[in-house]
Amino acid sequence: MSKHYDLLAIGGGSGGLSAAERAAMYGKRAAVVEMGRMGGTCVNVGCVPKKVMWNAASIAHALRDARGYGFDVLVNDFDWAQLVKGREGYIQGINDWYGTYLKDSEIDWLKGQARFVDGHTLEVAGKHYTADHIVISPGGTPMVPAIPGAEYGITSDGFFALTEQPQRVAIVGAGYIAVELAGLLNALGSEVDLLLRRQHFLASFDAMLRDSLMEEMVSDGVNILPNINLERVEKGADGKLTLTAQGGHTLSGFDALIWAIGRAPNTAELNLAAAGVAMDEHGFIPSDAFQNTNIPGIYVVGDATGRAQLTPVAIAAARRLGDRLFNNQPERRLDYENIPTVMFSHPPIGTVGLTEDEAREQHGDAVKVYQTRFTPMYHALTAHKSKTAMKLVCVGAQERIVGIHMIGHGVDEMLQGFAVALKMGATKKQFDDTVAIHPTSSEELVTMR
Ligand code: FAD
Ligand code: NDP
Repeated sequence: MSKHYDLLAIGGGSGGLSAAERAAMYGKRAAVVEMGRMGGTCVNVGCVPKKVMWNAASIAHALRDARGYGFDVLVNDFDWAQLVKGREGYIQGINDWYGTYLKDSEIDWLKGQARFVDGHTLEVAGKHYTADHIVISPGGTPMVPAIPGAEYGITSDGFFALTEQPQRVAIVGAGYIAVELAGLLNALGSEVDLLLRRQHFLASFDAMLRDSLMEEMVSDGVNILPNINLERVEKGADGKLTLTAQGGHTLSGFDALIWAIGRAPNTAELNLAAAGVAMDEHGFIPSDAFQNTNIPGIYVVGDATGRAQLTPVAIAAARRLGDRLFNNQPERRLDYENIPTVMFSHPPIGTVGLTEDEAREQHGDAVKVYQTRFTPMYHALTAHKSKTAMKLVCVGAQERIVGIHMIGHGVDEMLQGFAVALKMGATKKQFDDTVAIHPTSSEELVTMR
């Protein structure tokens, strides 16, 4: 006989774990189906290892800057393998913690790959499990282009598996991962070519952020090559890679090639047809504002929705779903508007709300923009300087703030509080009426003219 649950979550990542946790919190029988390591992309091959590498890169920059402050720093060596070992040990600790936490919370871990049998039944490792509610949260997998030799490249997953530092690296892509990996590899001493198929990266970000980051990355030594569309990749007898782009242009001598061109949802193997769950042409699962799929009792959260592929979004959607299903809060749902996000570039970007272009499209002449660009005091004594830029996008006579965009030292930790203010509908005057904290960069946000 099959075991029955109140809730089954497919995927032990940010979304699935949160859905099961909420169900268990409300006293329901819950299980997570996970075929890999507990924690999903974020913990194992995403946010967590990335942030460790970003921290290491930030330390490299601090060491570079230390001379200006009087430190006679001589760095003898940087041990990539030691960094990776430490990072993976840290992640193993999180994996282990999950095992105990799930037991303590009385959430079952069903190990294996889940496939739908029908609208209330999953098959996992040859056994059937039924549930009143099934949450689909299988995340995604990095994409690789369909060109000859693409297999010589690696993806972000392969990047985190590198036990030796590549000396010369090509990164293809124009989004979060391409920009973050280019910045951190460059800071750690690799020679980096970032290949964009268009003129610019970060197409959906405010133009000020795009332009400022490009300038900073170039001045930091990243070789940004726009308008390169690769046609093939070849590996020489020496193991080095040669890339050929449209028009015959070749780039050669790479130890590593990293594809960072987006992620495809892990939905193809779920046998969704057995439950009648619809997918779009890219494999994402359409859902309404309450995470409902087209089939009652089956929900989708996280990256497989195709919306805002961020860990806190997956978590927030799953928690609100749990509140709605098991705690009598029928209107509880995630508001996908004004989601703050940080790009862990060098320097970092923090952004929330409408870009200036989006605001002008929606509100026309009612838009007023305040912006500033300055050298933060941290760089007063450093040889290498980077600028900080900030923009407030305001709308209407009240100057309601609908967009906050920042790039520069420390903005990653600055944004969260300001995102609360924006979400609450703060106006420019309310920002002006808040006393500044001096000397900081964030004070500029409440003193802009
Ligand atoms: P996942 O976390 O991907 O979890 C899905 C899980 O489902 C996986 O463990 C998988 O093994 C399992 N699974 C899939 N199919 C099945 C099946 N059929 N049966 C059983 N198990 C299955 N977001 C941020 O907010 N901040 C960041 O700094 C950040 N950095 C990132 C850096 C990188 C390099 C990457 C790749 C992503 C990053 N993200 C970041 C995005 C973030 O990791 C994802 O948005 C988040 O993990 C999505 O959660 P999820 O639950 O939808 O899926
Ligand atoms: P993104 O969707 O961010 O960016 C991929 C970009 O690569 C596309 O937008 C496109 O840009 C470009 N591209 C697509 N196909 C090709 C191609 N064949 N050749 C060259 N360029 C191509 O995907 P990522 O893989 O960078 O990241 C996946 C998601 O993970 C992100 O969207 C984000 O949600 C999440 N993430 C979040 C992080 C954070 O919060 N800090 C960090 C890392 C990931 P264009 O069309 O302009 O060429």
